[in-house]
Amino acid sequence: MSRPCPICGNSVGDPHTNRAYPLCSARCRAIDLGRWFSESYRIPGEPVRRDDPDSLPFDPDEDA
Ligand SMILES: [Zn+2]
Repeated sequence: MSRPCPICGNSVGDPHTNRAYPLCSARCRAIDLGRWFSESYRIPGEPVRRDDPDSLPFDPDEDA
């Protein structure tokens, strides 16, 4: 029934007792969250700069 942790491959155990489910531990959950978060910043075609709501209308990186 138990499936492996997608981060480290260890057993995740019982979802009723493992608060980090579907990850095996809080550490792996943090790693998974970091991956998910970094991927969310790389959505193609996303015009909104979420990192700075008060950013200027031009991208300062384009002149670099
Ligand atoms: Zn793990």
